[in-house]
Amino acid sequence: MGFSIGDIDLDKLLEEVKGLFSKQKSFVQPSTVQTPTSINEPPTESGAYKTPIHGSWHNLGGFDLGMKRYDGRTGHQGVDMSAPAGTPVYALTTGVVNKVGTDTLGGNIVGVQHSGGIWSYYAHLASARVHDGDKVDSNTIIGTVGNTGNAGNPKDPLKTQEGGRTWPHCHFGIKQNGAWVDPSKFFSIPAYDPTFAKNPGKYQKFWLSDDAKQEAEAFNMREHTSKRRAAFTRDVGKLVKLANQFYKLVSD
Ligand SMILES: [Zn+2]
Repeated sequence: MGFSIGDIDLDKLLEEVKGLFSKQKSFVQPSTVQTPTSINEPPTESGAYKTPIHGSWHNLGGFDLGMKRYDGRTGHQGVDMSAPAGTPVYALTTGVVNKVGTDTLGGNIVGVQHSGGIWSYYAHLASARVHDGDKVDSNTIIGTVGNTGNAGNPKDPLKTQEGGRTWPHCHFGIKQNGAWVDPSKFFSIPAYDPTFAKNPGKYQKFWLSDDAKQEAEAFNMREHTSKRRAAFTRDVGKLVKLANQFYKLVSD
C-alpha cells in the first residue's frame, strides 16, 4: 500500500528516484577526450596540423576571397566544415586560446594563437569549450558544431534546415601574419559537393568513419549525462517541495 497525493504515486516516484541513483552510479565516464595530451610531449612541429573535425565532414563552402555573398559581403575567408550538430571541434595544432566570445556573424567563436604567426578561427559553434589563455593541442575539443550567428540568417541560400537555419557546420579560418589564407595549405579538404550542399540534411546521419562516430557519441553521452544531472537536481527540488506540501497537509 502506498501514499498518494492526487494522481502522484509517491512509492512509484521513490522507485524512479532510486533508479536514477543506480544509473548514476553505474555510468562509466567515456575516455577523457577533452584532456590535452601530456605536457611532456614535444611541441607540434610546424606542418603537424590536424583537421579540426576528426574524420567526418563535408565541404559546405570553400575559401574564396572574391566570392560575392548573398548578404552583400565579399569573400568567404574560410571553409565551412559540415558535420552533425554536437560533433567535437578540435584545435588545429598546439596553441593558446586568445579569443572566446559571441558575435552576430560568427555566433559562438573561438580563436587560437599558434606559433609561426598562425591564428585559427572557429565559428558557428553550438558552444565553446575553452577559455581565454587555455593551452590546447590537436586533441583538445575547443567547441562543438552548431549553427549560431549568421548561420541563422533567413536570407542565407543554405537555410534548408527546419526552423530556417543553415545546416550545422564549423566555419574554420586561418590567418597567417594577419591575413586570411586558404586552410587547404594546412590539411586536405574534400571538394565542394553541390549535391551535398543542396540537401545536407540527407547526409546528417552519415559518418565517414566509425571512429569519428564513436568519438562524437561518447562526447554527446557526456553532455547528455551532465544535462541529466541538472534535470535530476531540479526533480529532487520538486520532490522536496512536494514532501513539504505533503507534510503541511498531514500536520494541519
Ligand atoms: Zn563560412
